[in-house]
Amino acid sequence: MPLNRLGLQTRLFISHLLVMIVGVGTLVIIGKVSSPRLFFLHLEKLEHRGLYLLHRTELVTGFETAWNRSTFWSVIVGGSAAAGLSYFMSQRIMQPLIQIERITQKFAQDQLNERLPASEIPEINRLSASFNRMAASLEGVEQRRQEIIGDLTHELRTPLTVLRGYLEELAEGKILPSPEIYSRLATETKRLERLVNDLQELSKAEAGHLQIKLQSVNLRPLLQSLVQKFSDQLLEDGPFLWLDCPPQLPAVLADPDRTEQVLVNLIGNALRYTSHGSITIRVWTEARSLWLAVIDTGIGIEPEDLPHIFERFWRAEQARTRHAGGTGIGLAISRRLIELQGGQIFVESQPGRGSTFYFFLPLA
Ligand code: ADP
Repeated sequence: MPLNRLGLQTRLFISHLLVMIVGVGTLVIIGKVSSPRLFFLHLEKLEHRGLYLLHRTELVTGFETAWNRSTFWSVIVGGSAAAGLSYFMSQRIMQPLIQIERITQKFAQDQLNERLPASEIPEINRLSASFNRMAASLEGVEQRRQEIIGDLTHELRTPLTVLRGYLEELAEGKILPSPEIYSRLATETKRLERLVNDLQELSKAEAGHLQIKLQSVNLRPLLQSLVQKFSDQLLEDGPFLWLDCPPQLPAVLADPDRTEQVLVNLIGNALRYTSHGSITIRVWTEARSLWLAVIDTGIGIEPEDLPHIFERFWRAEQARTRHAGGTGIGLAISRRLIELQGGQIFVESQPGRGSTFYFFLPLA
């Protein structure tokens, strides 16, 4: 069998054996060549000192025989012990590697909760630790994927059921076509469309594929035009929208389009959940950052809901906001967009009194 076909354990074993054979062989050859000569010289020395040795040749032959026998048994016993030890050692190295192979194969077959145990060999231990880190992150990705599919199915089902219901009733003549029916169908279709668009945006943002073009920008003109745009849509008895911004703003390092997207989402939400009072956009500078807050006097958010507010598909009082047309994705996208620009977004709220969403962007 060619050497490169042999398993690691056999190779380790053979290499140990080779080392042993070379060591023992050298020992035997040197012993064999030098021991009788040294013994002979020793005898000569004794004779010089006046000791008379009657059977010198027998003595040398006897020594050689004794040496040969003891060397033979030493080689047999020592060799077996070394071979046994080397087998044991190669097994100890191989065992964790075989375990790693078994577990990685299980992992590849979708058993994502499999983890490698710690090993007493530091290098294998490090390998196990990095594998386990990778496994945990893959398991997280898989879990998120399943959550998204679950959420998505749930989100798609409602508008699809409504659409199918109306279309079937129209087909069977149970209801007559009217502008109201068509407008409901259009509303549900728009909902589906918005859901798909939001999802595409979110998936890009979460995968880091969104293009963020950071540049030094003064946000004041953008804020003014946003306030103007939204104020034009406000009803007479609706909330009052105003901008509380110092006349001179330092430039920030941000993507103006993405910042506008976040502000549109925050102001849109504030308008949706505020029937009277005011919506203030406040801007201030603090600790090398520009802070922007959208403060409303609307319905507010329950304290137990606050930790979930930036989670995708999350909405308070599901039915009501679904009716209001929200997808529950806007804030998840906003948070990701702010983070991609090096900032962070926060929320504070009191039910019945209003909510404040605020975020910072680094100064240029
Ligand atoms: P949606 O498209 O449903 O508005 P968001 O992610 O923007 O999705 O918001 C998630 C949920 O957070 C909303 O459904 C709503 O329940 C709550 N929310 C967001 N902004 C406000 C606000 N200004 N006042 C009260 N509740 C809010």
